[in-house]
Amino acid sequence: MKITRITVWQLDLPLTEPYWLSGGRLKFERLDSTLIRIDTDEGVSGWGEGCPWGETYLPAHGPGLRAGVQTLAPSLLGQDPRSIDHVNRVMDVALPGHPYVKSPIDIACWDIMGQVAGLPLWQLLGGADAAPVLVNSSISTGTPDEMIALIHRAAETGYTVHSAKVGGSDIGADIARIEAISEALPKGHRVTFDVNRAWTPGVAIEVLNSTKARDWVEQPCETREQCAHVAARVPNPILLDECMSTFEDHLIAWKTQACEGVKVKPNRVGGLTKARRIRDFGVSVGWQMHIEDVGGSALADTAAIHLASSTPEANRLASWLCHYHLAHDPVPGQGARNAAGTTTPPSVPGLGVIPDTYHLGDPIAVYEA
Ligand code: MG
Repeated sequence: MKITRITVWQLDLPLTEPYWLSGGRLKFERLDSTLIRIDTDEGVSGWGEGCPWGETYLPAHGPGLRAGVQTLAPSLLGQDPRSIDHVNRVMDVALPGHPYVKSPIDIACWDIMGQVAGLPLWQLLGGADAAPVLVNSSISTGTPDEMIALIHRAAETGYTVHSAKVGGSDIGADIARIEAISEALPKGHRVTFDVNRAWTPGVAIEVLNSTKARDWVEQPCETREQCAHVAARVPNPILLDECMSTFEDHLIAWKTQACEGVKVKPNRVGGLTKARRIRDFGVSVGWQMHIEDVGGSALADTAAIHLASSTPEANRLASWLCHYHLAHDPVPGQGARNAAGTTTPPSVPGLGVIPDTYHLGDPIAVYEA
C-alpha cells in the first residue's frame, strides 16, 4: 500500500464566545484548523486534523502547519501508511521538530491502519472496549461570579469535571477566585485550576499556600524547571501541559518530580504515535492524565478520545472536547460527543469520522505522486 495523494483543507472555526486564558492576557475568538485526507493506491483513505489553539498558546500556528505539510509531502508520497513508526521517522528526518505539523498526518495513517485491520482505534491503541471517558468543561477567565455561572451552565449539560482558567496579575484576586470556585462547586464535582503559565514561581507558591483549595493546579509557570520548583513547595497536585513537547520532557519531569500528571495532546506532541508513547510512560509511573487535543472540530477530538478511552481508568482524569466551543460543526453529528458528562469513541474500523467534503469547501492544496 502506498500514499498516492495528500489533500489539505483550511477551516476557519469561530468560537461561540470570546475565550480568555492566562489571567486574561491571551484572548481567542477563532481557530485556524487544517484537515488532511491521505489517499492510497488501494482505495483506502484516512483523515486527520491539526488545529493549534490560535497563535499565542503554543509555538504552533495554522499557516505554519500547512507550510510544514507542503515541505513533508514529497517525502510522504509513496510511503506505506501502515508503517506508522517508519512514517514518523521519515517526517522527523525531513522536518526536525514542528510536532504540530506531523500530528494530522500521523492520525490519518492510524485511520488507514484501523480500516485495513478492521478495528477501531481504541482497540489498536490497546483498549478492551469503547470505554466511556469523563469530559471536562473549560471555564474562561473572569470574575468569580462569572466563572461560577459558567460552571453551573456546564453542569446543566452533564459536566462534573471543570478546568477553570486562572492566573491574573493580582494575587489577591486569584486567591479569591480559587477559593470561591472551589467552595461553590456542585456536590461531587471536581475542578483543575489551569494557570496557563501566568505565574512566577514566587507568586505560585504564595497563592497556593494561601488558599484552602487542594484541587489540581495546571501549568502554574512558564517552564518545566519553574513548575518543578513550585511542585516541591505547594500542597496541590500539579499537572503539566504547555511546557511538554517531547518524550524526554516527560522523562525529565518525572525524574525531577515536577508533576503528578500531564495533559497528553496529540497536536502538541506530534500525533497519536508519540502521544501513545507518552501515555504508556505515564501509566508506568502512575501519572493521572487528561488526554485530549489542543483544539479543532469533533474529528481532532475523536482521535484523542480513542487514546483516552484505551487508557486505564485509574490513569485518566477527564478529557475536554473542543468542538463544544465552536460556532460551526464541519463533521455534523459524527465522532465523540458529550452524552451527559461522558463521551465514547466510535467502534467502526479506523477513526470513525469521515468528513463530507461538501462541508469543507475547496481544498487549498493537493500533493500527488
Ligand atoms: Mg492547560
